[in-house]
Amino acid sequence: MDTDQALRHDVAVANRIIERFGLATAYGHVSTRIPGTGQFYIPTRRSPGLADENRLLVIDTDGRILSGEGTPNSEFWIHARIYAARPEVNGICHAHPLNCISLTQIGEPHRVVHNQGGAFADGVPEYGRIGLIRSRELGDEVAASLGTGIAVMMRGHGVTTASGDVRSATIAACFLEESAGLQVRMLSAAGGDAKRIRAFTKEEALLTRNQTGPSAAAAGRAWEYYAAVAEAKPLGG
Ligand SMILES: [Zn+2]
Repeated sequence: MDTDQALRHDVAVANRIIERFGLATAYGHVSTRIPGTGQFYIPTRRSPGLADENRLLVIDTDGRILSGEGTPNSEFWIHARIYAARPEVNGICHAHPLNCISLTQIGEPHRVVHNQGGAFADGVPEYGRIGLIRSRELGDEVAASLGTGIAVMMRGHGVTTASGDVRSATIAACFLEESAGLQVRMLSAAGGDAKRIRAFTKEEALLTRNQTGPSAAAAGRAWEYYAAVAEAKPLGG
């Protein structure tokens, strides 16, 4: 497999991962920057669980569709404008995971409550506007909310993660939803009293980020696992 085909393959697998792991159903998308360009690969407008590496679109940071057949996802502006704002970002995942959405709708910020949550030691900002990101302007707003971070929660909508490559962006989204799920469970067990949660200190969170974060050495193992499960699980599984 040449480098370009390998990248396309990763994009398709990444999209199947977010569907198989319950971060998305019919809607959601993962993209990768074509190295050294202002262009990116993204699937056509269908469930990420149906992503096909041979049917990807090439879109640029101004939202122009340069190649590929089919309709783009209406929220491709999220990807276009984050790639424009963040030259070091080469992978972006946008999904609608239920636990993250739950946190936004009870006004609870993300807290680091387990090792894999350490990736978010710097905090996860919130984008508060409701509705889909279907314009350049709204894409710029999301990019501004994300700032220099790895993830942004989108109120009543979902999450967007951005990282140095498509694999780590995808793993970050999986880790964030796992973390949010634990936080929701802990809040419930604590009768809704957030003060009872023993969230990691900044120092503890940074320690675990270095050990287990999606850009750490351990990420290779995480991608291997998520990719293998995504290939083994049936659609909707
Ligand atoms: Zn969305």
